[in-house]
Amino acid sequence: MARYPGATWKPLAADWAAQPRMRAFDIICIHTMVGGLEGTDTQFRVTNGPGFVGTESHFGTSWDGRVIQWQDTAYQAEANYNGNGHIISIENADWGAPFPQWSGSDVPAFTAQQIEAIAQIVAWACRTHSIPCVLIPDSKPGRRGIAPHRWGVPGYMAAGGEQWSTSQGKACPGDRRIGQLPQIISRAQQLLSGAPQEDTVSMDDVVHSWYDPRFRENRNYAQVIHNIEDQATAANTQLAGLTAAVSTLATAVAGGRDDLTAEELTAAVDEGIRRGGAAILAAQEAARAANPSA
Ligand SMILES: [Zn+2]
Repeated sequence: MARYPGATWKPLAADWAAQPRMRAFDIICIHTMVGGLEGTDTQFRVTNGPGFVGTESHFGTSWDGRVIQWQDTAYQAEANYNGNGHIISIENADWGAPFPQWSGSDVPAFTAQQIEAIAQIVAWACRTHSIPCVLIPDSKPGRRGIAPHRWGVPGYMAAGGEQWSTSQGKACPGDRRIGQLPQIISRAQQLLSGAPQEDTVSMDDVVHSWYDPRFRENRNYAQVIHNIEDQATAANTQLAGLTAAVSTLATAVAGGRDDLTAEELTAAVDEGIRRGGAAILAAQEAARAANPSA
């Protein structure tokens, strides 16, 4: 069994292990759905034939980086025609908000969340199945690495290449997404090298998303905001304590007292922290009351 821990495991049928086993692990192929993740799930599961009847891929990503695994990678998925026996397939959403309307081969770029999600899948699959984390130039026999579906599509494929589709001239996954593959592979290489992981949600993401209603549904962003709030609260409280301590010292010095005890000073700091915390909580309550949607 080979399941990616970052995915929701949603096999297309209970008899997923009745599908043919992979005969080798050579290539990870990047596709585009011409649809959203949920619609594609229905298409694979129902519309194009029940369960594993018809085409399907091993993985699917949504615009916001959610991942479904439809088939265990020890077994075949049928997204790559003659390559099914040795190719792990990743389908990717391209339809519906936030993607712009498009037609023909003008597939919009991957979102930042998809780039991260795909890189994570690629890193896992390369590690799990010993696939080199490199872009391969075509679908010729013996190639091992990452490829866009187009490399095996008639009309695009190199002479002598393995055919990965019956659709003449299919652009999958589109020029923009093919242009993003080096970025995805570079990120996957970073993950494989054990380099410290960047925070997958940057401050820029947070600031942009703040104005986006979908922000409310994304727990990553919400968690980042909560962390920032917690840190700000802790810092403000500490500042209130220090202010109280300085004030107590100033009062003592001005009053000519030289008998100020450590206990008195500590009590002043504690009281400052308590008051600071209470003031911050009150300010947060007031802000929430003024902006109920938050
Ligand atoms: Zn494809």
